[in-house]
Amino acid sequence: MDLTFSADELAFRDEIRTWLGENMPTESWAPMDTQEGFEQHRGWERILFDAGWSVPNWPHEYGGRECSLIEWLLYEEEYYLSGAPGRVNTNGITLLGPTLFTFGTPEQQDRFFPAMASGEEIWAQGWSEPDSGSDLASLKTTAVRDGTDFVVNGQKTWCSRGAWADWIFCIVRTDPDSERHRGLSYLLVPADAPGLTRRPVSRLDGEPAFAELFFDDCRVSAENLLGDEGAGWSVAMATASSERGLNLRAPGRFLAAATRLVELYQRTLDDGLITDAGLREQVISAYTDATAYRWQVFHKASVLMDGGSMGSEASYMKVFWSELDVELHATALRLLGERGELTHESALAGDGGDWLTGYLFALAGPIYAGTNEIQRNIIAERVLGLPRK
Ligand SMILES: Cc1cc2nc3c(=O)[nH]c(=O)nc-3n(C[C@H](O)[C@H](O)[C@H](O)COP(=O)(O)OP(=O)(O)OC[C@H]3O[C@@H](n4cnc5c(N)ncnc54)[C@H](O)[C@@H]3O)c2cc1C
Repeated sequence: MDLTFSADELAFRDEIRTWLGENMPTESWAPMDTQEGFEQHRGWERILFDAGWSVPNWPHEYGGRECSLIEWLLYEEEYYLSGAPGRVNTNGITLLGPTLFTFGTPEQQDRFFPAMASGEEIWAQGWSEPDSGSDLASLKTTAVRDGTDFVVNGQKTWCSRGAWADWIFCIVRTDPDSERHRGLSYLLVPADAPGLTRRPVSRLDGEPAFAELFFDDCRVSAENLLGDEGAGWSVAMATASSERGLNLRAPGRFLAAATRLVELYQRTLDDGLITDAGLREQVISAYTDATAYRWQVFHKASVLMDGGSMGSEASYMKVFWSELDVELHATALRLLGERGELTHESALAGDGGDWLTGYLFALAGPIYAGTNEIQRNIIAERVLGLPRK
């Protein structure tokens, strides 16, 4: 086992570290989950793209650097450690992107990748419905072929940043007589399609982060079908694997939070504000878990680079990072005591209220990308081979 990085990998890491050091925005922006913040963050996507840092692991022809998976993980670490702005097009770049590379036609790839990489077109995920979340295969939104179009009817919900996104990747039922996983298709829907109405919905922290989508005889060109008609479930599972595994939540995010947690502990200790000796153990445990997740992912990346696959293991990674994120933020709030309960609007809020904001979002981690109960079912049945009942 070789736990050292190559000279090329370290040079790559230093390059992004230097670039971020020189190009980080100095002004503060509205939160990404508000309309104003959404557009400000779109501008940052363009800056990253122009410098070749939006999609470093993509091919050169779409603005990438063709970096390796290990280099991409180092990039993510540097990105989060620097405190750079959140990526408003994450759902496009990290979820739809890999699926489009696998299932997209050359025409679709040429059409969608450049604008996705530059942030000109920002994507949202339109999968969940009011009665179909965990049991996605029960979804009811239909898309019926009419000439060169599909006519879509139904409702989607919990669509992150769906109120302002430019495009939405949806799963719809194209065979009305089908049941469950059969007869579904993966459709790329322009947000300005006639017959599509979007309504913002507020999250726990009050930001209008979600949208409900209403499709009333909404016409979408059949050119926007990703993969074969009726084969949408297998296309969707490729996206789900990206969502649970490395792509959506690379370890850099948690390593950065764990590093900030250790700094917070040190400051609180220096100020003589540690009242519970057990907090030290909790900080050590959270930092150790973040580091363990990092090495686990580097190990998995090596396996993938040797031609291995991700498969159901994405499920235990998803359970691990989502529970780690909650614990990291909960430990910070315990360190901050009463100051941790104040939002960023109060001058007395500990660390500007960032830990509280992060904690509220971390609580969603065990729910989105497939709930942790569902992931545990998958681990039990497909990884451990336990009987279904
Ligand atoms: C922050 C956030 C962002 C999101 N963004 C998007 C998005 O952009 N696009 C999108 O389409 N969706 C999005 N979602 C929705 C998310 O995918 C669903 O919330 C999730 O799939 C769960 O579905 P549900 O809410 O309908 O809960 P349900 O499926 O109704 O589940 C309710 C509870 O029952 C449990 N449960 C259900 N079935 C089983 C079972 N078989 N075994 C054991 N337990 C079970 C679940 O674990 C859960 O605890 C987002 C959610 C959150 C929180």
